[in-house]
Amino acid sequence: MIIRKLFKFENAHIVRGCTTRRCSENIHGHSYQVEVLLESNYLDDGQMVYDFGLTKLYIKELIDSFDHAITLWSKDDPSYIASMKSFSSRWVELPVSPSAEQFSRVIYLIVERILECTRMQNGERDVKLQSIIVHETQSGYAQSFREDAHSQMMGVILLDEIVFSDQVTAEWSDIKIWEKLLQHKVIINPLKI
Ligand SMILES: [Zn+2]
Repeated sequence: MIIRKLFKFENAHIVRGCTTRRCSENIHGHSYQVEVLLESNYLDDGQMVYDFGLTKLYIKELIDSFDHAITLWSKDDPSYIASMKSFSSRWVELPVSPSAEQFSRVIYLIVERILECTRMQNGERDVKLQSIIVHETQSGYAQSFREDAHSQMMGVILLDEIVFSDQVTAEWSDIKIWEKLLQHKVIINPLKI
């Protein structure tokens, strides 16, 4: 069975190499919608695959990190990156260009890591991240499955290459959560939500 939770954020970017100059040479924004699809062959004690309430903490917070922020590609022109960082307090830097396709891969890896670090406590069994869908516009989306997120052909994404600005991290309920997730150490207690 697959269940789906929808998240939304507003984000700005430039997509270098895009076929249209509007897209590749201009800072512009989109109202993104992100679908998190979780899958299991089992139901938990509440006869659910996974209580959506459990997504409200770190999954919601990490996806919300992109809201009202600019997303930068670490291989973009250093002077562009530096100027964006000096004039905008909310930014996220990625090792890949912020296309919808790469957003879906990045968010897949983030949510995957959160689930890996979550200790299930309500009888959830074999809950897997089936895919992430990122809608950049009303009419177009990109969907990443595990093999896409971990694909070397699409560009390796190491989680420790994803950098969140100080104003972004300051809003997290645990300012160290990204550090903990990178170290694979955190054991999240969903019952404390
Ligand atoms: Zn765009």
